Amino acid sequence: MVERSYETYFRQNRLPHLWCPGCGNGIVMKAIVQAIEKKGWSQDNTVIVSGIGCSSRASGYMDFDTLHTAHGRAIPFATGVKMANPNLNVVVITGDGDCTAIGGNHFIHGCRRNVDLTVILFNNNIYGMTGGQASPMTPLGKKATTAPYGSIDRPFDACKLAEAAGATYVARSTAFHVQHLVKMIEGGMDNKGFSFIEALVQCPTAYGRRNKIGEPAKMMAWMRDNAVMKNVWDKLDDDKKVADKFPIGLFYKTETETYDQSYNHVKEIAGSL
Ligand code: SF4
Repeated sequence: MVERSYETYFRQNRLPHLWCPGCGNGIVMKAIVQAIEKKGWSQDNTVIVSGIGCSSRASGYMDFDTLHTAHGRAIPFATGVKMANPNLNVVVITGDGDCTAIGGNHFIHGCRRNVDLTVILFNNNIYGMTGGQASPMTPLGKKATTAPYGSIDRPFDACKLAEAAGATYVARSTAFHVQHLVKMIEGGMDNKGFSFIEALVQCPTAYGRRNKIGEPAKMMAWMRDNAVMKNVWDKLDDDKKVADKFPIGLFYKTETETYDQSYNHVKEIAGSL
């Protein structure tokens, strides 16, 4: 009998999941597992850490060593895990509110320290579980419970923020571009250092319904029609980078010392005194 990946990598006693019908979170969760499988990482040597929110429920479904932490605090918990045992593979699952609002400072400082983590931000453009409030990644003019006439706050480009703050691998994909998404996550797992992957997900309930975008298939078609591969995006004239168009792909990659390596130097210096 063929063993399916969900039987291997997901906790059967925690399923079915609580996500709404048509939600994109399950697609990204599966993409993470596919990337782990391709990397050959063992379940016993891989830790999944999440914050709070719809996407952060994923850690409860995944059969690894998992930590479901406090709102916005996944990166500090993950930093502690990595520093305690640098041999572990540590993956962070977070949402746009969790990562860029409540956990915004943890995010930028994790980047600048180049902590060896793979951080996957599920971007559904809104707070889903906590009540449909606008997040720092809600697009201008889109509605939320805290912005009933449309958001007037300019949204973060979390990829640019990560790169500027010092992340050593930065990429974006969507729940529509599944194989591409797996490749972006796998690239992040290959990188030694702070890897940040933004994954756009459709949220038909808290975001789509409020903004009259339509059912999940339409939201995925929007991703298909508006995402532009980075190599094509880079050649586009500025007047073509309009409306909803956005780039996906690998934006930045570099190599530099990781935080656990830097900390080893401190231990060597302290030991020689
Ligand atoms: Fe998914 Fe949105 Fe429902 Fe949360 S509220 S489970 S993100 S569809």
